[in-house]
Amino acid sequence: MRIANTVVDLVGNTPLVKLNSVVKPGSGLVAAKVEYLNPGGSSKDRIALRMIEAAEKSGELKPGGTIVEPTSGNTGVGLALVAQQRGYKCVFVCPDKVGEDKRNVLRAYGAEVVVCPTAVPPEHPDSYYSVSDRLVTEIDGAWKPNQYSNPAGPQSHYETTGPEIWADTDGKVTHFVAGVGTGGTITGTGRYLKEISDGAVKVVGVDPEGSVYSGGTGRPYLVEGVGEDFWPAAYDPSIPDEIIAVSDADSFDMTRRLAKEEGLLVGGSCGMAVVAALQVAEREGPDAVVVVLLPDGGRGYMAKIFNDEWMSSYGFLRSPLDAKATEPLV
Ligand code: PMP
Repeated sequence: MRIANTVVDLVGNTPLVKLNSVVKPGSGLVAAKVEYLNPGGSSKDRIALRMIEAAEKSGELKPGGTIVEPTSGNTGVGLALVAQQRGYKCVFVCPDKVGEDKRNVLRAYGAEVVVCPTAVPPEHPDSYYSVSDRLVTEIDGAWKPNQYSNPAGPQSHYETTGPEIWADTDGKVTHFVAGVGTGGTITGTGRYLKEISDGAVKVVGVDPEGSVYSGGTGRPYLVEGVGEDFWPAAYDPSIPDEIIAVSDADSFDMTRRLAKEEGLLVGGSCGMAVVAALQVAEREGPDAVVVVLLPDGGRGYMAKIFNDEWMSSYGFLRSPLDAKATEPLV
């Protein structure tokens, strides 16, 4: 019988699907790696599993220990899911700007959520950075994964995401395109694909306009999970051959097209990565095989990207979801 022992055994081995309607004629093949099919709904399940395993091996995380991390999103879900299966507790610290729905998702998986004020600087004792640091010292057996500097993050993509893409394209992949947040995905997957292809595979990082990877200073952008205002240790800048910056407006418009035209209800960083992948596929022509990684699903963005009023309040609305609404919303 083909029955997984626990949900943890379902992490990884996500499929590739060809994009059709959004790809311009004459372009190369564009294949999307659908990471929302991980059990926790994102690529972060991979790093959560590998970070926990590495900490078990090194002795930093002991039986019955507590995982403490400042996170509100996908990484928290991945950590909580692996933790409950292995008997660890989770305490996640998040700023109060994080919606009640997101906090309840973490609680549903059995995690404790500590909410801190958003309107204080990082060095303030009540900031979510300070509080998570304090909890690590106060809680017996606490361990902080720190996804921004933990080498197990990129390593998980080197060991799983990269080999999966190579195998599923029969080694024919020519370009790998992914958004850059902590940099773990692009660094680990990109390094593997470059090594196995003797440098033939080109690696393209994608970043919101204004973020550091494409030369910005951290100017605010609305796409979530990607872009930084500092350089995390999980990112190796020697891996990408190129960085493409994409605007919020283009990212969100493509995110909506992926749901409407390709049947892929995904998050905003997915639309962002696809905008860049389509540019690469058009530029490189029909022989290119472009793999683009889609990190998460769209359910967490219904009140924003998939809400016409929110979109139009930022001037992003190009075509309403409601087909009857012929007048632009104000
Ligand atoms: N998209 C989303 C929605 C994410 O949560 C993340 C992780 N921060 C990324 C993209 C980028 O992945 P990475 O951290 O591996 O660069």
